[in-house]
Amino acid sequence: MRSVDEHLADILLAVRPTAPRETGLQEALGTVLAEDVASPVALPPFANSAMDGYAVRACDVAEVPVTLPVTGDVAAGEGGRPVAAPGTAMRIMTGAPMPEGADTVIPVEWTDGGREQARFERSAPAGNAIRLAGEDVLAGDVVLPEGTLIGPAQLGILAGVGRAHALVRPRPRVVVISTGSELAEPGTPLGPGQIWESNSYALAAAVREAGGEAYRAGITADDATGFLDQLNAHLSEVDAVITSGGVSMGAYEPVKEALGDLDTFRFEKVAMQPGMPQGFGVAGEGRIPVFALPGNPVSSFVSFVLFVGPALRKMRGLEPGPVPAVRAVTLAPLRSPQGKRSYLRAVLAGGSVTPVTRQGSHQLAALATANALIVIDEDVTAVPEGTEVEVIPL
Ligand code: AMP
Ligand code: MG
Repeated sequence: MRSVDEHLADILLAVRPTAPRETGLQEALGTVLAEDVASPVALPPFANSAMDGYAVRACDVAEVPVTLPVTGDVAAGEGGRPVAAPGTAMRIMTGAPMPEGADTVIPVEWTDGGREQARFERSAPAGNAIRLAGEDVLAGDVVLPEGTLIGPAQLGILAGVGRAHALVRPRPRVVVISTGSELAEPGTPLGPGQIWESNSYALAAAVREAGGEAYRAGITADDATGFLDQLNAHLSEVDAVITSGGVSMGAYEPVKEALGDLDTFRFEKVAMQPGMPQGFGVAGEGRIPVFALPGNPVSSFVSFVLFVGPALRKMRGLEPGPVPAVRAVTLAPLRSPQGKRSYLRAVLAGGSVTPVTRQGSHQLAALATANALIVIDEDVTAVPEGTEVEVIPL
């Protein structure tokens, strides 16, 4: 049997970051920058007022109270460069350019707010409430280096330096194909021997949560030819494929039958529970990665967390890193089969963790009550209550 780490290492060797593409800002959220972004101008581009108030010369309000004539208004967006003569004040608004001659801003709250003339109750040194040009960014400064994950604040600064587009690694497009002649589409009645298809919904959602774009291909019956047709129909449109089911040891295993003989694929037992049967390889001219996950709903979900999640990070242009884990004290004794790494569904709360009672790999409802996986190493078969264990938050 291969270890979880070996299987993941094979996968990470085979997947590549998506090709950079020029993208409009609205679509850039969650993508990763493929260029250094520099500002073409200083930010702020010009000295401006940080408050609503009066632009004056500090020396004219050194002795207070004092009343000065108000010679005009400077609003935000003022295109000219007004001049404040000595011994006068101009009403100024937040973001408006500082008039020539004025060297400080007295907030309106420190005055009587007058329009023709204003009485100043407090003075301020030169430079008060003024945002200097270049205080945030100098012209030519790199504000976001290549490799930056674009979140809301990063989108903001892209726009703030005047960009309408950026070169990014787009979200990986992933199609999810469910195999199984027993599967019925949710919303349709169940026939004898049928169950509702759930894996593609969970997996597609997991792809989206992991920063990818997901498409459900729907259900394919347990027929290798039909499965291959379905796979080939999507290969040219996606960056990765996830299949569920059809990879174990029985008969009617369409994924294994269709891909098992290709030298770009491996189907093997991975020393883990749940999720032992795993397949991975690349298909088509584009060498598109195909994650052939087992069909049991909990197995396919755990396989996603351990293998597909890190691969998607690499495809997005991020460090795949180890799957984030924390330490917590188990509130119940734990068991695990010898030679397999276990991922027990559990509820993590504060510093402690409790396994859920139903641990079967088909027990999807129990998974839905869990928010974490307890990891138990291959050589450990029993963990007493009160032991600190490794936990993967979901
Ligand atoms: P398989 O890996 O195809 O042998 O499937 C293992 C178990 O998972 C079987 O009980 C299947 O009915 C179930 N299963 C497979 N695919 C799905 C699916 N897409 N949704 C729900 N259950 C599934
Ligand atoms: Mg099946």
